[in-house]
Amino acid sequence: MTLEEFLKDTKQIENYYGKEYNEDQKKIMYENLKPLPIARYRMIIAQIFRNCQYMPNLAKIIEMNNLTKYEPKKELKIDCQRCGGVGYIVYKKEIEDGDKIRIYDYVARCTCEKGNTYKAYPLINF
Ligand SMILES: [Zn+2]
Repeated sequence: MTLEEFLKDTKQIENYYGKEYNEDQKKIMYENLKPLPIARYRMIIAQIFRNCQYMPNLAKIIEMNNLTKYEPKKELKIDCQRCGGVGYIVYKKEIEDGDKIRIYDYVARCTCEKGNTYKAYPLINF
């Protein structure tokens, strides 16, 4: 992750616990945590909010990293005749606009399993 990403997301920890890391702490934390992809760091922060009663120091963040399982990305492969496996269908619709007919592109969620993955779901489940 970049320094900018680190600072932005670390700010979330500070806001949540109502405290701040000092510049030296943040420097050392970043040196140790920068090999992590930002998505991974965010996953760890979500775990911290669930599990840490107090603002975590670097050792605790590293511990949370070790405890947080990697969730392999599951790319759902569907053989669907309707949408071709992408989960949505683009179609055109004619709309009357006064004396003109305009053609618009519409997108519809497919009824197959892949289409179901487009349902919105909450970011964090406490
Ligand atoms: Zn489909």
